[in-house]
Amino acid sequence: MTQTTAGVRMARFTVPDGCRMQAYRFALDPTPRQIRALESHCGAARFAFNHMLEFVIAVRDQRAAERSYDIPEDELTPAQGWSLPALRKVWNQRKEVHAPWWRENSKEAYNSGIDALSRALESWWKSKCGSRAGAAIGFPNYKSKHRSPQSVRFTTGTIRVEGDRHHITLPMLGRIHTYESTRKLVHHLDSGTARVLSATVQFEGGRWLCSLHTIVEVQEQPTTTRRNGHPVVGVDLGIKNLLVAATPDGTEVLRVAAPKPLNAALRRLHTLQRRAARRRGRWDPVNKSSCRPSRRWTRNHRQLTKAHARVRNIRRHELHRATSTLTSKHDVIVIEDLNVAGMFRNRKACLKGFNRSVGDAALGALRTQLSYKAERHHITLRIADRWFPSTQICSGCGARTKLPLKEREYRCGICGLVIDRDLNAAVNLARLGDAA
Ligand SMILES: [Zn+2]
Repeated sequence: MTQTTAGVRMARFTVPDGCRMQAYRFALDPTPRQIRALESHCGAARFAFNHMLEFVIAVRDQRAAERSYDIPEDELTPAQGWSLPALRKVWNQRKEVHAPWWRENSKEAYNSGIDALSRALESWWKSKCGSRAGAAIGFPNYKSKHRSPQSVRFTTGTIRVEGDRHHITLPMLGRIHTYESTRKLVHHLDSGTARVLSATVQFEGGRWLCSLHTIVEVQEQPTTTRRNGHPVVGVDLGIKNLLVAATPDGTEVLRVAAPKPLNAALRRLHTLQRRAARRRGRWDPVNKSSCRPSRRWTRNHRQLTKAHARVRNIRRHELHRATSTLTSKHDVIVIEDLNVAGMFRNRKACLKGFNRSVGDAALGALRTQLSYKAERHHITLRIADRWFPSTQICSGCGARTKLPLKEREYRCGICGLVIDRDLNAAVNLARLGDAA
């Protein structure tokens, strides 16, 4: 395939000066009728994706076949562009024949499927040409009804956050009740400091969620509220303690213990996973083929999805609470660098156990949350060098001792300091921020 078939993408939306992008996500409480409509919209997005992917492949193969018969280049079947407008144009020509039911769903549903395809093709092409960083991206696969995530995005039409603070209105779906109050967003919208760009509805962890993508005017935070005597803190993450924050002089400012509901949820996860292993799932290990799962497996699978979501939600909640506290109280935050991609590539590190992966997942999320909240609060986030031995250095005298992972206390053989392991690491990290 030649470069010319890859369509030129229009410039993406740029955030105006003095504004920032912010997403508000609400769990929806749709009526049974709305659930059916939501499922229909997600199915429509999947259909449009698969249909257009099939078309793109057919055109590609047709051209290849014609070339093999020595047909001159200018007489070949015209190439199909991969840009959203090019794909959408073909979809609009074909929908009446191939999807005569298309009026049942908002046109935005098909558009989100085609947009996803356009992005997937672009990423694949860029990855193949070497102009895209990161792991290699394969050619797009067809989306599955059972396995692919269900989601649909609305960019035009009636997207409204109702003034009663408990409803969101979406095209074709009408007013959908939300579990949580939309108060914070409504406040911004009422005062004219925010504008909703799009709404994405997805089914995740047994719930329908709506993410509203907005641009919000940046407000200067009053700096006086932030000063609490500890401008610089280091943050160490662990498993027993989710995180420990300390100042360079060794004062502990925040300690978040591993949340107890998390352990209970993890136990339930363990039980369900063992149960799933005993039931007939989507893969038949005897005949080495996929098969239709049993109803008991399907039910168990649903419970498992919910249990995973609960674990994720508890951890996310604790992390949000901690990062909000940190970014609103301190001026400089130092965290350790983490090679997430490298960890998964290294099989040995991967096998170090469930606890390890739990800690790692939190570490990645913490860094993401801290970096955007730091920007929001106009503070500095510093990331320590990947090879900085924060757990090995003595915060008393600076000597270096290697400590086994099970040892919870740091004992220095030179100055005799005995200090909590995580606190010691946090102090060492905080000093990096102080020195710079
Ligand atoms: Zn020492």
